[in-house]
Amino acid sequence: MAKITVHPLTKNPTKAWQKLQVKQSISKVTPLDPDTPVQIDKVRFVCISDTHARVERLQDFIPEGDVLLHAGDITNVGLPFEIEKFNEFLGKLPHKHKIVIAGNHDLTFDDDMVKTKRHDLEMRFNIRKEKFEDYLNERGIASVKSLLTNCTYLEDSMAEVYGIRIYGAPWQPEFCDWGFNLPRGQACLDKWNKIPEDVDILITHGPPIGHGDKCFDGSHVGCVELLSTIQQRIFPKYHVFGHVHEGYGVTTDGVTTYINASTCTLQYKPRNPPIIFDIPLPEGVSKTC
Ligand SMILES: [Zn+2]
Ligand SMILES: [Zn+2]
Repeated sequence: MAKITVHPLTKNPTKAWQKLQVKQSISKVTPLDPDTPVQIDKVRFVCISDTHARVERLQDFIPEGDVLLHAGDITNVGLPFEIEKFNEFLGKLPHKHKIVIAGNHDLTFDDDMVKTKRHDLEMRFNIRKEKFEDYLNERGIASVKSLLTNCTYLEDSMAEVYGIRIYGAPWQPEFCDWGFNLPRGQACLDKWNKIPEDVDILITHGPPIGHGDKCFDGSHVGCVELLSTIQQRIFPKYHVFGHVHEGYGVTTDGVTTYINASTCTLQYKPRNPPIIFDIPLPEGVSKTC
């Protein structure tokens, strides 16, 4: 197994990318037209992300397909009613499989935040501890993750659909004290080291350095160790993420296709179309079984 080391400039991602990009081949990809018919021998994936509780008018906006992928930030602050609304929205979509991860805005999905950083939840986001606990108790659930009944929720875990392996992880380098934050460098790498090597599609909330990670001010905020892990150890066919809304779009390094699927724009308007791609069905697998 390739051993990934922490990049010396990891704490300064813009500078790290200035050095790294010299040796990187990177090109833009025009995504498939959403009206392209779904084929019997291919699995159609439909990618969305960063819907931030703005799902009311999204339903008609989402093309048909076999598997819906959502790369996190389903809510604004993780309030139960936002999660219920999202789950209802998922229930109305026709895709046979729906796979979702959390993002930094989905605060109540972050067990550490709920258990040890309650003060943050209460003071900064006005999620009252007692109210939140009452809510969970009334429903007989230990976590808001149980509210997502219409999808498969991944958190450092894997799902397999039609023989295609999909891994999801919500972590991203520290960003204003939100959920699933980790210091840049080893702490992030420790999470990426959990990703198995035979992953076809990797879903993370945050981007890797250099792909869909450029902010409106020109800085790069992606994770250096995530790119190293992808390019030196995992080699997934697709990497789907969001988080940097203005980084919406598709790029490739020739091996992996990188999809920033942020549905919301920088102004939190849910206007970016879902991004679709097809993977041929593995031999011996059919969509009907
Ligand atoms: Zn977001
Ligand atoms: Zn985010």
